[in-house]
Amino acid sequence: MDKEIAKQKDWSTLSAIDYYNIHNWGSGYFTVNEKGNLTVQPYGETGPRIDIMDVVDEIRDKKLSFPCVVRFQDILRSRVELLIRTFEKHIKEMNYGGAYFGVYPIKVNQMREVVEEILDAGAFGHLGLEAGSKGELLSVLAYNTDLEALTICNGFKDEEYVRLALLGRKLDRKVIVVIEKLSELPELLRLAEEMKVEPHIGLRARLSTKGAGKWTSSSGDSAKFGLTVPEIIQATDLLKSLGKMECLKLFHFHAGSQLTDMRVIKEAMNEGARMYAKLCKMGFPVEYFDVGGGLGVDYEGANSTSQSSMNYTMDEYIADLIYNLQQICKDEEVPEPHIVSESGRAVTAHHSCIIIPVFGSIQLGHDYADILGKSDHSQIVTEMRKIFQNLSDANIQESYHDANAKKEDALAAFRLGILDLEERAKVEALYWQICRKILELRGSRKKKAAKETSHLKELLADQYLANFSVFQSAPDHWAFGQLFPLVPLHRLNENPSRRGTLVDITCDSDGKIAKFIDAVAPKNTLWLHDLKPGEPYYIGLFMLGAYQDIMGDMHNLFGRVNEVHVFCDDEDPEDFYLEEVIPGDSISDVLVRLQYFPSELAKSVKRAIDEKIKTGAIKPKEGVTLTDFYEQILKSYTYLVHR
Ligand SMILES: *Cc1c(COP(=O)(O)O)cnc(C)c1O
Repeated sequence: MDKEIAKQKDWSTLSAIDYYNIHNWGSGYFTVNEKGNLTVQPYGETGPRIDIMDVVDEIRDKKLSFPCVVRFQDILRSRVELLIRTFEKHIKEMNYGGAYFGVYPIKVNQMREVVEEILDAGAFGHLGLEAGSKGELLSVLAYNTDLEALTICNGFKDEEYVRLALLGRKLDRKVIVVIEKLSELPELLRLAEEMKVEPHIGLRARLSTKGAGKWTSSSGDSAKFGLTVPEIIQATDLLKSLGKMECLKLFHFHAGSQLTDMRVIKEAMNEGARMYAKLCKMGFPVEYFDVGGGLGVDYEGANSTSQSSMNYTMDEYIADLIYNLQQICKDEEVPEPHIVSESGRAVTAHHSCIIIPVFGSIQLGHDYADILGKSDHSQIVTEMRKIFQNLSDANIQESYHDANAKKEDALAAFRLGILDLEERAKVEALYWQICRKILELRGSRKKKAAKETSHLKELLADQYLANFSVFQSAPDHWAFGQLFPLVPLHRLNENPSRRGTLVDITCDSDGKIAKFIDAVAPKNTLWLHDLKPGEPYYIGLFMLGAYQDIMGDMHNLFGRVNEVHVFCDDEDPEDFYLEEVIPGDSISDVLVRLQYFPSELAKSVKRAIDEKIKTGAIKPKEGVTLTDFYEQILKSYTYLVHR
């Protein structure tokens, strides 16, 4: 199927939706319009619809350079509402005895505008926040002011962290300190006594159920966080002996992020629910059952247990959780607790993307007519030409063998000084042409072609040069091979005619994307459109809202990317506005972070230029221009600027 993309006769925007699997990963938020542009509909099909190329135009009008992160704030709202409403729906339908109190773990995306939008959207359901460090708790205490909403304090804690949490209790907030390691408990009780507040305590259990997937070291016997079963008993003994049983408000576990398999989730939930029930039976009035994060998103749109996918829906996850918890509570004859989830990825992943301009491509084995047009002086070249001319469907494999042997011969001859550079160039040019022709013949073949030449597809794919850094904008792709959807933002009504991979502008051969999502199995190349001289080609990398933003690094000093926040216009369903424009790092911003002083750098270069002016090698006027130029670049964007 793949090989026919370039030549598919009746290509339409529907083919593009299908090929780039847009409706499956897009969860209803993305589609293609009749112009062939990718569009976003933050509230689903019936809501407003924004042409992403209009956003591109607006960014250009604002004289902002690409790459540019775009946040669709309305998608955040939509996700938060969906999460809370789905819980509410099933709680009602099942007549469940508790309520849902979600918390957003801010480590997933701590950006203020993201947190504000989420809190605002979730206010109707008293959505709270989760912090995992002092820094996070400082901002959480300032932002989570709803007295009904929870503040959950996870992570290892020192005295300052605990005091901060207790400050929240002084303000009558529902701040729950989750004990991650046993020694935190006596410390918490001591400080609470000293500060004269009643602590709200949570216990985090280290479940034995181990998830499958990349981020599942959060559970199992060797996990970093949480109490083992004997430690839970020690903790409860301590609370009992001090008469603090009523302080234990919450039971918590976290089986890992991006849980891909519903079966594992069920097991973890059941183990957790039983533990909750046993604590109740021991006489602890635990009010909240906190299932942690882990609710996945389907980056691949494959509906499978593969690493960047998931084999269940949010609806199934929630319904199943409530149902099983209810059954176990009935069975154990304990009250049905309030349910807490710490879903971060599922809330934030869809809302942000990065718009990346492609500024060129590297093609192996193209446009060598000028070299090959010259007459041959060497036997090896003549023989290579013959292989090329005789190549047909009937002799693919032997021609491939012959061409490889000739290429080896040419290299040997070159090493001995027998073959000159021009002739060697011809041999290689012919070799790549033979490979291209083989690929073409394979593609139009009825029978299956030999496996030996199948790698040519990847070898001969174009490398699209993209103005961005994988390390900054999609670190999990580099670190774990996590997949993100990649789609051209326009020309989707045209056949994509080139098979490509994407390389970034870092000087690192890992800085590339060469695995792409697919409904069935990930693919190593992606069909893209040919580049037209003088016409920009924009692609979008999607679902970057969870973790990517915040973990991006400074490889090659590219630093933070320009960013805009898009809001739907309430009046006009086709319209939108950019509320926030946040400039990315300038070159001096990133230099300062590494202890360089831009003014000193400029002084040093100026001194060198002044020396040259003294000797007359540089004219004074030119010297001024060069000095200004250096200083101007210090202030400019770190990424490539194509004017
Ligand atoms: C990271 C983390 C989360 C968020 O998990 P998601 O899979 O992004 O929802 C929730 N709780 C804890 C304790 C975490 O460490």
